[in-house]
Amino acid sequence: MNTGPDTRIIQLVMALRSAGLSDNAVLAAIERTPRDLFVPEGFQDQAFENRPLPIDCGQTISQPFVVGAMTQALELDDRCKVLEIGTGSGYQAAVLARLARRVFTVERYRTLAKEAEGRFAKLRLSNIVQRIGDGSVGWPEQAPFDRIIVTAAAAERPDALLAQLRPGGIAVAPVQRGPVQTLMRYVADDKGQICDEALFDVRFVPLVAGAAKAL
Ligand code: SAH
Repeated sequence: MNTGPDTRIIQLVMALRSAGLSDNAVLAAIERTPRDLFVPEGFQDQAFENRPLPIDCGQTISQPFVVGAMTQALELDDRCKVLEIGTGSGYQAAVLARLARRVFTVERYRTLAKEAEGRFAKLRLSNIVQRIGDGSVGWPEQAPFDRIIVTAAAAERPDALLAQLRPGGIAVAPVQRGPVQTLMRYVADDKGQICDEALFDVRFVPLVAGAAKAL
């Protein structure tokens, strides 16, 4: 009988708390999102470890600490309209969907988008809207967004995306800075002026601009 969250999820949440995540709403969203559903079959035994894992199409599901830290940095509430670039497995989108009003997520690999769609349905997450395409241009028809999260590393400050951020909005994105990638947080003031802050160094797959992959 299923009597609540898997004890492995509770251990993961405790590990994330010890690693410095403190936002209880974010930790609760992680606790309610079974990461084993998002990782390939051969990696089930590692699904609740605090490490990134490979997914289809040569991509990666982020480390849970990074998912939590990025989500925390967004300071979400249930009125937020969020844009995510890089659906991947769908795990980050699923965590966001528990905290925000609606999540718009873009992925360039059709295979990954379709797999993620099945997972969202299984978890009855009905507030996620998907698109297959090049997310480096954002989602102009749906802009502006209250929050933007980029889960692939941009070569430089993602200005096209930041232009789709509402005044007062927050974005997080890994950005290549010399030999390292740094997780950047951007806050748009009331006039739309952007302030940047470097959070910590990370390792993401690259944000690849251009046509979507029909794979
Ligand atoms: N958020 C994901 C992590 C995905 S890894 C998760 O929780 O699993 C980064 C993803 O970004 C990959 O799936 C990659 O295909 C996608 N990606 C890279 N460049 C992109 C682009 N220009 N537009 C949309 N998706 C892109």
